[in-house]
Amino acid sequence: MPSSKKNSSRRKGKKAAAISGASNNNNGVEHDAVLERAIALAAAEKRTLDKAAAEEKAKESVAGSKCKHGYDPSPIEARFCNNFMAKFMDAINSARKRHDNEHSLALAFDSIFGKPCPKGAKEIATIERAASFCLSIGTQNLLDGDYDCARQNASMGCFFLEIVPTVMLGTKANIDWPKIMELNYADLRTLISFYRKRTHHCSCLDKMYKEVKSMKKMGICYNPECGLSNRKAERSTMLHCTQCRCANYCSRECQAADWPRHRDGCVETAECTERVKKIVKIAT
Ligand SMILES: [Zn+2]
Ligand SMILES: [Zn+2]
Ligand SMILES: [Zn+2]
Repeated sequence: MPSSKKNSSRRKGKKAAAISGASNNNNGVEHDAVLERAIALAAAEKRTLDKAAAEEKAKESVAGSKCKHGYDPSPIEARFCNNFMAKFMDAINSARKRHDNEHSLALAFDSIFGKPCPKGAKEIATIERAASFCLSIGTQNLLDGDYDCARQNASMGCFFLEIVPTVMLGTKANIDWPKIMELNYADLRTLISFYRKRTHHCSCLDKMYKEVKSMKKMGICYNPECGLSNRKAERSTMLHCTQCRCANYCSRECQAADWPRHRDGCVETAECTERVKKIVKIAT
């Protein structure tokens, strides 16, 4: 296009004049040369820095996508675990149509393993791997900002982690149902702490943890009639039932109000805890 050509040639002319004008003054030439060198150096340095930053970012994303957050099965184990989890999820979904979350987990487990469940090394490995699987997926959920899925996977992972010492090994008296249920509604701080403590092999959640570290951990009052919004209370101020150590309350009033309901379960839980403590003591 003729008009643009004209413009560019005019610009070139101006530039040439500026350079020749500067060359009339020796100081000016030196000054310009120093300035130009500095600009060139700064530009080169920026290019190097940009390149390094881009490389670092690429490395990070490769490491991030490669990290399995502690779940590292062989291909055969992975296939087996995927099948088990698919079966377990089907069982949970059909149980959920008729029962609450707590019962659904237990029923799904019973429907796969039968009652009493087998306690061989193979079954224990299956459950441990399933726990590791849930923790890995849940950690990734957190990193992706999918907090509801992270809560569900935490609850399910916690259930598998509780099953092994209680039902299978008999080294722990009771499944910690309050904790399993609480994770379904957990605040971000509780959730991130839960995953971070259990995926010892990776540091993927360190940055997130730093951001929420100063937040208060919240617990859920065990009294179903608790008047607090969503029954949530600051965990460090909650009271624990000293007999069973499984029920947490926001206040003395809630503990007293819930006692008629909790009493039977509390005695049973406490007795079972004592029994297992004795067995473990003899065994060790
Ligand atoms: Zn990781
Ligand atoms: Zn309460
Ligand atoms: Zn109790």
